Amino acid sequence: MPSPSVPGDSISLWTFKARFGTMKHGRCVVPKVLAFTVCLALVASCPAPPDSFEAARERMVSQQIEARDVKDPRVLAAMRSVPRHLFVPSSQRWTAYDDHPLAIGHGQTISQPYIVALMTELARPGAGDRALEVGTGSGYQAAILSRLVREVYTIEILPPLGEEAARRLKDLGYSNVRVRVGDGYEGWVEAAPFDVILVTAAPEKVPPPLLEQLKAGGRLVIPVGPIHDVQSLQLIEKDAQGRILTRDMLPVQFVPLTRPR
Ligand code: SAH
Repeated sequence: MPSPSVPGDSISLWTFKARFGTMKHGRCVVPKVLAFTVCLALVASCPAPPDSFEAARERMVSQQIEARDVKDPRVLAAMRSVPRHLFVPSSQRWTAYDDHPLAIGHGQTISQPYIVALMTELARPGAGDRALEVGTGSGYQAAILSRLVREVYTIEILPPLGEEAARRLKDLGYSNVRVRVGDGYEGWVEAAPFDVILVTAAPEKVPPPLLEQLKAGGRLVIPVGPIHDVQSLQLIEKDAQGRILTRDMLPVQFVPLTRPR
């Protein structure tokens, strides 16, 4: 009996049936094999699932950040791109984009998204800049900075937080960030001077080493004031002659900048 040919295919239906077994327990398996092949092809042709937090991140930027007048398009783009939910404990992922700070363990917090964006905008990060952050915490602010400047140096005083942030930043591919465990009050002398310094824990007074390590023309953004109370978010600029100009921008509440005992 001649084998019926299958159009467009070099293998005949006859050979196909012979190879895959026409009947099994009295039922033909050909439709199953075909259905399986079609399913495989459909799955393979589907695009990768979109980041399921993308919509939440977009709402965060438009409703919490742009609505409060943060305008720098580079800062907005960075806030849109960094997956904040991967910087918070996994039990908190679904609240990562809400309008408040979140606990990250060890009595510390990741700042409210608006405060991260505002501090970043005030620092006017330039593409060729070198930035220092004091208070790595989760690494989120460092990741935002890393999208905007050439190099980021960040210091965390609590070893478990610093080590976890370093691992996370590496795993997520933020390769222009260096993390150090130590006392950020002293700055990072070997990498100084910095165009931008962000301090995300509050000292009672501005640490003199940070002013020294600020480049002429550089910007330091820092919450200054009493521990466990309201502080003032200050923008401090050093001009070409080394003169310091300080402006109070906003009342804020940060965790204290601690010192080693
Ligand atoms: N920027 C962080 C949040 C900062 S919370 C983020 O994006 O997640 C403030 C952090 O500053 C805490 O992790 C705290 O341990 C750290 N810190 C406090 N005092 C410090 C000091 N002297 N030097 C470095 N880090 C300090």
